[in-house]
Amino acid sequence: MSQQAATTQSKTNAALMEKIVSLCKRRGFVFQSSEIYGGLNGCWDYGPLGVELKRNLKDYWWRRMTRERDDVVGLDGSILMNRRVWQASGHETTFSDPMVDCRQCKSRLRADQIPVGKEGKIQCPVCGSYDLTEPRAFNLMFKTYVGATEDESSVAYLRPETAQAIFVQFKNVLDTTNKKLPFGIAQIGKAFRNEINPRNFTFRSREFEQMELEYFCRPEQGMDLLKYWLDERLAFYEEIGLSREKLRVLDVPAEERAHYSKGTYDIEYEFPFGVQELEGVAYRTDYDLQQHQEHSGKSLEYFDDETKEHFLPHVVEPSAGVDRTVLALLCAAYDEETIMDDKGKSETRIVLRFHPRMAPVKVGVFPLLKNKPELVEKARSVATLLKPHMNVVYSETGAIGKRYRKQDEVGTPFCLTIDFETLGERGDELKDTVTLRHRDSMQQERMKISDLPAYLLSKIG
Ligand SMILES: [Zn+2]
Repeated sequence: MSQQAATTQSKTNAALMEKIVSLCKRRGFVFQSSEIYGGLNGCWDYGPLGVELKRNLKDYWWRRMTRERDDVVGLDGSILMNRRVWQASGHETTFSDPMVDCRQCKSRLRADQIPVGKEGKIQCPVCGSYDLTEPRAFNLMFKTYVGATEDESSVAYLRPETAQAIFVQFKNVLDTTNKKLPFGIAQIGKAFRNEINPRNFTFRSREFEQMELEYFCRPEQGMDLLKYWLDERLAFYEEIGLSREKLRVLDVPAEERAHYSKGTYDIEYEFPFGVQELEGVAYRTDYDLQQHQEHSGKSLEYFDDETKEHFLPHVVEPSAGVDRTVLALLCAAYDEETIMDDKGKSETRIVLRFHPRMAPVKVGVFPLLKNKPELVEKARSVATLLKPHMNVVYSETGAIGKRYRKQDEVGTPFCLTIDFETLGERGDELKDTVTLRHRDSMQQERMKISDLPAYLLSKIG
């Protein structure tokens, strides 16, 4: 790509990102946290549609990773844990970024992100000063105090990852489930990192959610399982509507991996702001269990009935970010197209082409007219029929075309219109049928009300 083409492309991408952010606010996907007070940097709230989208993602992950498998069970660990967990895991001493302070404007900057100015000296990107401190380690964990006293003995951290709860409960899960290797423990939950530069909308946040699996195995199975989980996870992303062409797999070179890892793949997505990581799939060997066994003094060994061996299992960890995957879903879904309206005038249609499985609202139900009680009553009964099975929006105001367009903009894959045919006024043939309108093709077909639940469930399941 030429320099000029690259610049144009990056402007287009920035404009696209702006449109997505604006749609998220306008339609209630994502709001700035504590917005009326000016917000809190790196924190976001999910609005009525965002929470549904996020829940669909987490539910589908849970279903695919635990319920549809015999070899994975779940866990929901606490966010606050004994401080010694983080001493054992190494987070208290090494979970840090090298930071530099500007003595002029007091900005705190990541040492590896500061531009080099004149004479090869690093320069403050905020005020332009060269008066910067030497890099210092800045721990990314949020520190707090448990109980009434605020001293060293009561220090606790908001967990920076969910994985450690799984390692420290490994023995309890093993003893209560009698699982045989290989088996996994899955968890979805909040984690916190005091990122110095939260950026790219919700991509890098200070409070975020993770979906993590620790899959325990015999040492000799580790490398094969690493490849197995990479393939499983790539298939998952396709199942939620992220096309394989926009996904990248980075085989992380040894010098960039954690020292204990024998292999790590990053699954990346082509966001408008660049290719960024969605998930890491890492073969962590027995490092974590080893550390906790040593620091706690409790045996975390597994006993193999058949070989009569005691040993520490190895682990493969697929660790995905909920918020960044939600953002990838939004970016992948966003589309604009020019269409002709009823009067032959061209207009722009904004449509979120979510996979029906992920769409926050599955179906919109509309009476053709709101001033015809028979239509309203019938439409409400269709909504009631569907509500136990899926998220339904009922709407009766505005022209039908406008109502369709509103649902397009939030990615609702199906709309149903209840009209005079439904009431039997155009003959028995069409009685108790509705117009089913498809979001992507905008095509319409007639369908029997009694066939709707099975049809829609087959599409969104
Ligand atoms: Zn400065």
